[in-house]
Amino acid sequence: MIHPGLRVLVLNSGSSSIKFELFRMPEEEVESSGLLERIGEPESRLKCRLDDKDELIERRVHDHSEGLGIILDLLSGPASTGSRPIDAIGHRVVHGGEGFAEPAIVTKEVEEAIEDNFALAPLHNPPNLMGIRAARERLPGVLQVAVFDTAFHQTMPPHAYRYALPEELYLEHQVRRYGFHGTSHRYVAKRAAEMLRRPLEDISIVSCHLGNGCSMAAIKGGLSIDTSMGLTPLEGLVMGTRSGDVDPSLPAFLSRTAQMSPKEVDVLLNKKSGLLGLSGGLSNDMRVLLESEAAGDEKARLAIDTYCHRIRKYLGAYAAVLGRLDALVFTAGVGERSPAIRARVLEELSILGLHLNDARNQRVVGIEADIASEDSPVRILVVPTNEELMIARDTYELVLARGPSAA
Ligand code: ADP
Repeated sequence: MIHPGLRVLVLNSGSSSIKFELFRMPEEEVESSGLLERIGEPESRLKCRLDDKDELIERRVHDHSEGLGIILDLLSGPASTGSRPIDAIGHRVVHGGEGFAEPAIVTKEVEEAIEDNFALAPLHNPPNLMGIRAARERLPGVLQVAVFDTAFHQTMPPHAYRYALPEELYLEHQVRRYGFHGTSHRYVAKRAAEMLRRPLEDISIVSCHLGNGCSMAAIKGGLSIDTSMGLTPLEGLVMGTRSGDVDPSLPAFLSRTAQMSPKEVDVLLNKKSGLLGLSGGLSNDMRVLLESEAAGDEKARLAIDTYCHRIRKYLGAYAAVLGRLDALVFTAGVGERSPAIRARVLEELSILGLHLNDARNQRVVGIEADIASEDSPVRILVVPTNEELMIARDTYELVLARGPSAA
């Protein structure tokens, strides 16, 4: 049975922020969206779009619970139970470890499992759990669902997710590759199949999520069989401020030669590297780098060349891993909006059956499109990602699966 018009609130809780989007399901209409920033600081800011009107609230918000209370008051009237009841809440949770291959209804056990994974995602899981607890406190009895960034990649085979390290590290400390951006890769793979009018089960896709964080996934029959991020989101591609792949002996080398502590190395690789590091501190923003390169900046050119080269290496690797390639998908900030980077990644890749339609590529910014030439054996797609919608769909499906009483 179809529930008539449920409201699903999607929350993405960061250490000092809550991003939210309120969906009417199954219509998938966005009724409201917004961002509360600087929680815990003297000047917190809530920007919200509600019924096509913009609201801005600036006042001190002490913690996530208070912040969520303000958001709910705005969305549904002062009592949070007024004219716009919220039927279910979907939370983005970064790390589900090995315990979650699917979205899960939040229970005490699920909360404990999110907490057990704090060591694997120290920056993300604690605020994600804060958001869940704040929602439980503010809207007790409303169904809550956790949608994990790692879940989609749980289908990777052991030879893709294990590191060549002593077995004890995996058994005792869960050291393995997990992968991230799973909700985004899952969303664009589904859209790609719809755009190609082929069953997802029949096609092989490489998806490139190129935002501030960047990752690629090899997706066969709708299942992730390899991905570029690993134990943490540091592995793989060159990103805004993250190095991606480096020689694993680098931390030991830096501690010997530059007396750097583990924490300093961590900050170096996560916050000072990638495009920012390569460009000599110029910028982590691809737009700035492209402009600087055009003005003759050699460091910007090197940063962009290294970024594109790494994507091409993974593309070749994943074509081999998949054994067949039907489509390459570009998504997230750079993937959706930069024809120049897409063209550079795809230069002379006829060996992989990838032929770009240059004119069409130039025209496609932030919209869905097939940018391959007519005779390209492999399709090249641009698909704007929508992780919030995916979380709303997952949450709605779990509401339906629980039956009418859940709503
Ligand atoms: P996040 O990973 O934070 O969700 P996004 O997916 O929004 O980030 O991607 C942000 C990045 O996209 C920015 O840092 C910027 O480098 C890049 N970007 C956005 N628009 C463009 C554009 N028109 N051309 C090139 N890069 C762009």
